[in-house]
Amino acid sequence: MALCSAYATAPSAGDWPVVGHDNGETRFSPLSLIDEHNVGRLRLVWFHDLDTHRGQEATPVVIDGVMYSTSAWSKVQAFDAASGKLLWQFDPKVPGKIAIHVCCDVVNRGVAVSKGRVFVGTLDGRLIALDARSGKPIWTVSTVEGKRPYTVTGAPLIAGNRVIIGNAGAEYGVRGYITAYDEKTGRKLWRFYTVPDNPRKGFENAALRKAATTWSGEWWKDGGGGTVWNSLTYDADLDLVYFGTGNAAPWSGPMEGGDRGDALYTASIMAVRGQNGAYVWHYQTTPGDVWDYDATQTLSLATLNIQGQPRQVVMQAGKNGFFYVLDRKNGALLSAEAFEPVNWASGVDLATGRPIVNPEARYDKTGKLWVAAPGGLGAHNWHAMSFSPQTGLAYIPAQEMPFPFLKDRDFTPSEVGVNMGIDLASTSLPQDPKVKAAILAGLKGELVAWDPIAGRAAWRAPHPGPWNGGLLSTGGNLVFQGTAAGDFLAYRASDGHQLWSFPAQTGIIAAPMTYAVDGRQYVTIVAGWGGVFPLVAGELAFKSGRIPNRSRVLTFALDGTASLPEPVAPRWTAPRSARFCALTR
Ligand code: CA
Repeated sequence: MALCSAYATAPSAGDWPVVGHDNGETRFSPLSLIDEHNVGRLRLVWFHDLDTHRGQEATPVVIDGVMYSTSAWSKVQAFDAASGKLLWQFDPKVPGKIAIHVCCDVVNRGVAVSKGRVFVGTLDGRLIALDARSGKPIWTVSTVEGKRPYTVTGAPLIAGNRVIIGNAGAEYGVRGYITAYDEKTGRKLWRFYTVPDNPRKGFENAALRKAATTWSGEWWKDGGGGTVWNSLTYDADLDLVYFGTGNAAPWSGPMEGGDRGDALYTASIMAVRGQNGAYVWHYQTTPGDVWDYDATQTLSLATLNIQGQPRQVVMQAGKNGFFYVLDRKNGALLSAEAFEPVNWASGVDLATGRPIVNPEARYDKTGKLWVAAPGGLGAHNWHAMSFSPQTGLAYIPAQEMPFPFLKDRDFTPSEVGVNMGIDLASTSLPQDPKVKAAILAGLKGELVAWDPIAGRAAWRAPHPGPWNGGLLSTGGNLVFQGTAAGDFLAYRASDGHQLWSFPAQTGIIAAPMTYAVDGRQYVTIVAGWGGVFPLVAGELAFKSGRIPNRSRVLTFALDGTASLPEPVAPRWTAPRSARFCALTR
């Protein structure tokens, strides 16, 4: 098997210059000062308590010894990466009322840094350029349209001299798009919409004209959805920006009833030209999705040797349970294999690229309850995947979280609430202890090391429950992951043998990263339990280990000597009655 790393902008060895480490979003660092032989000596060197108790989803960036990160409510911090000294912090003062339009907690997944500027997208839809030395704003633009309730939780992407940002809100009646801004001035350069508007208004481009033929009903009234709320990736050689799109709204099909149609370009992986935002290709992972199978998970770029040919690919472990390998020049499907149990489709037809859908799974057509695997929280959600060119394996924070879907026959969309179009009464967690125990037993989390060429797992490491942190892989033959149960773990990347653990005193959902300053390698994780699962799933979330949120930046190195203060017991307890409802992202 021949492999090589694929990112176009090679970062200097000690830096972690973008949230995904590189523009190919491998989350692989070649650093090997910490390796499989000495990782047992890894200790805490510094920590920083964050001023929030909401979920932490950011991966920091480190450039020239300075760490830039974000916390809940889109706040930005800069640290001396070696000592942990806080250099500055920036609070965009997001209005608290925005929280009613936030499906999945008031989180932020990190910054982009370029030419002495730090870019952050804020929950209320602003894109702000900060001076990297002072944290002072240089320019601010609003990235949202009209009065629609858009939110921004994802990290911006730098592509050439452009900064690109998407948004969230498919369940709240928005029309998805990404926008490119001049990184120097904040001037809007282009906007690419993922779904067509009302055909009477005309179409912005031919791709949207074509997309409109794949919808039924009056989808534009509820925005359409298809939001780009997470992964953005860039191949500078091809000048292609890759992104994944979210669900169509509402989940259960057109408000008027009937079949939705494929609903392009929702639940799709797409490529547009970086220079002008022109459509280049799309691959729809879930045509006519009714299960909230957003295709917004990590998009990792690599060159894989497939049947003797080096292929430039983009890979995604989808919410819908299939691991996709696509030719990233043209979007051709090379393989799609299930990495977790899947019951909505029996497979993917490589000739047509379409899933072979189980008719029973179409609860919108049958009118019957369907317990979908995966459920709406996905076999893999936003928690970042990592791809190691060294082992040739993709490391997936995977989970089993089945979800019952039943169409709401009396659905009427609300202007302020979450619009899913499913009967929430059917999704209440039964209080019968036996039924409850069975449901809890069905919730699983594991780290899957996936061989994308063979299309199967090389190894799996189980966790106590679902909703665990994202992944980091390194040149030291290591993978790192934090868990919902509160452990920060290191495994041997090649075989999954656990080599190290640290009790983090809190559930972890973010992905770790690593960097070097003055010849010493560090590993950092932004710890803190939260996101949509604990927000809406009540006691189900405690399957993973009754872990509170203590939001902290934790940094480790060999022979570190810092220690955490003794934990104080949390003051809150789990809500008694929980629902599966609104398990969305
Ligand atoms: Ca969604």
